[in-house]
Amino acid sequence: MKLPIYLDHHATTPVDRRVLERMLPYFTEDFGNAASRSHSLGWRAEEAVEWARSQVADLIGASPKEIIFTSGATEANNLALLGAAEMYREKGDHIITQVTEHKAVLDTAKRLQQLGYRLTFLPVDPHGRVDPDDLRKALDRRTLLVSIMFANNEVGTLQPIADLARTAREQGALFHSDAAQAPALVPIDVEAMGIDLLSLSAHKAYGPKGIGALYVRRKNPRVRLAPQMFGGGHERGMRSGTLPVPGLVGFGTACEIAAAERDTDARRLHDLARRLHDGIRDRLDEVYLNGHPTERLPNNLNLSFAYVEGEALMMGMTDIAVSSGSACSSASLEPSYVLKALGVGDDLAHTSIRFGLGRSTTREEIDYAAGRVTEIVLRLRELSPLYEMAKQGMDLKKISWKSG
Ligand SMILES: *Cc1c(COP(=O)(O)O)cnc(C)c1O
Repeated sequence: MKLPIYLDHHATTPVDRRVLERMLPYFTEDFGNAASRSHSLGWRAEEAVEWARSQVADLIGASPKEIIFTSGATEANNLALLGAAEMYREKGDHIITQVTEHKAVLDTAKRLQQLGYRLTFLPVDPHGRVDPDDLRKALDRRTLLVSIMFANNEVGTLQPIADLARTAREQGALFHSDAAQAPALVPIDVEAMGIDLLSLSAHKAYGPKGIGALYVRRKNPRVRLAPQMFGGGHERGMRSGTLPVPGLVGFGTACEIAAAERDTDARRLHDLARRLHDGIRDRLDEVYLNGHPTERLPNNLNLSFAYVEGEALMMGMTDIAVSSGSACSSASLEPSYVLKALGVGDDLAHTSIRFGLGRSTTREEIDYAAGRVTEIVLRLRELSPLYEMAKQGMDLKKISWKSG
């Protein structure tokens, strides 16, 4: 078993070997510019790009013309929000999103607020889900866009996308979803789900970094976006810039593999995540699951461990690559805004760990991780007077603490 054990697949995934193999010739032999119309190297590159476009489209039930390649989901989210806001300024000035979105949506929404748009940030329930009734109440005649993520990158919660999209479209608003976490694990069908704009990222699905796409609906309704990048008029004028052919070939291949292996992968990872959860729960008390008990990404397990110190917990986990719910920002140790939005208290947010399983995760790795986590938490709790007191039946909330 190779250490560290990588359980951080929500941050990024390794490039699948089969993906890399297909990419390699496009760096050296077939290196042409897909926009070169005057020779065969250009044609071959263009052919590869169009094949990749159809592979991406197939994975989400779209047609190839509806796929605009970008540098990742961050750019796709920027283009969706900024591009729609600018294009539909006459129609409206109101945009709705929600509090646990990725920063690529939240910060873009805040930028639009600065530019004079009205923004509504919907709350989530304790499992991280948006209530379609809340969306219905927030919509008005001047709402031009609703943006709700497919699956959350911290707690794995899946949103009721089809219900939310239907609600938005009933009021004449466009519906965008950031689906960066979903395509290798959950089926997406933009037609059946009524999605108008959808952001994807290659490196969250065993493709290369720096590659992504925005799905832009072409009919019922035809969605138009104001470009945010100007130049040679690539990607139907919506996103200029020479196409990164090897990366796109990799993205397309990753999508083709995802389409073929998604369901088996998802089942296997769901079972492994449960094994990890059980392995920890069997040996430890006061462990809390963050996110939704069933409507969650099958590869996600986000747990909080009461009565341990967050930093000590992470420092003990050197041979397991995971993320924690406390992001160290320069001076303060701010707990995750996502966990906060779910109503998780600061203490439990600080001691949360996000396990993100992936295609290469084995049962041995899971058993090792469960053992290590248990061992570290037990050791830290042995040193915790609070845990001692709680175990002796004291109600810690009723104790008045004196300092000095
Ligand atoms: C990773 C991620 C992004 C950013 O994607 P990049 O391709 O790295 O720009 C956006 N949204 C979500 C939900 C993500 O998980």
